[in-house]
Amino acid sequence: MKIGVLALQGDFREHKQMLQSLGVEAPEVRKQEQLEGLSGLIVPGGESTTIGKLAREYGLEQAVRERVEQGSLAVWGTCAGAIWLAKEIIGYPEQPRAGLLDIAIRRNAFGRQVDSFEEPLEIQGFATPFPAVFIRAPVIERVGPGVEVLAREGNRVVLVRSGKLMASSFHPELTGDSRLHRLFVEMARG
Ligand code: GLN
Repeated sequence: MKIGVLALQGDFREHKQMLQSLGVEAPEVRKQEQLEGLSGLIVPGGESTTIGKLAREYGLEQAVRERVEQGSLAVWGTCAGAIWLAKEIIGYPEQPRAGLLDIAIRRNAFGRQVDSFEEPLEIQGFATPFPAVFIRAPVIERVGPGVEVLAREGNRVVLVRSGKLMASSFHPELTGDSRLHRLFVEMARG
């Protein structure tokens, strides 16, 4: 069982460590050939414009799209990664993205005053709150049919899932809590 971590930009190392702590092999992905044999891919937080441009340039955008459409790859985008997965990025129609998940997302949606914060989050199916770290985080403003909302911060949607795709506004790799990584491993296995 291998879960790759897209390593073009952003905090991919923390995801890698989290997966390895669960006994999962977590190769870094920078070229399309490196998608071979992966059951899942995590797209990390960072700067979504940079990640999007590089993924397009390296042919990874198209390669990931094909594998997802064939049903052979699970993908989880965290923060900038969630933006990359979204079908619609509000106010940035030209920003390069995979566009695989039927959501509309707003970048930096918590405002400049609240750059980053940590908050215990109720997640559907989890017995206790999850320590969610938000850093210049996006908010999911629209979810399409078939997209399940798994968590809200106040009334803002911050975690969704649709089949083998998952998107979170926050950074689960920056806390000691591995429950969401475990959930993704199960999604990729299933
Ligand atoms: N604000 C960043 C963006 O819009 C995302 C921030 C993050 O990944 N922590 O690309």
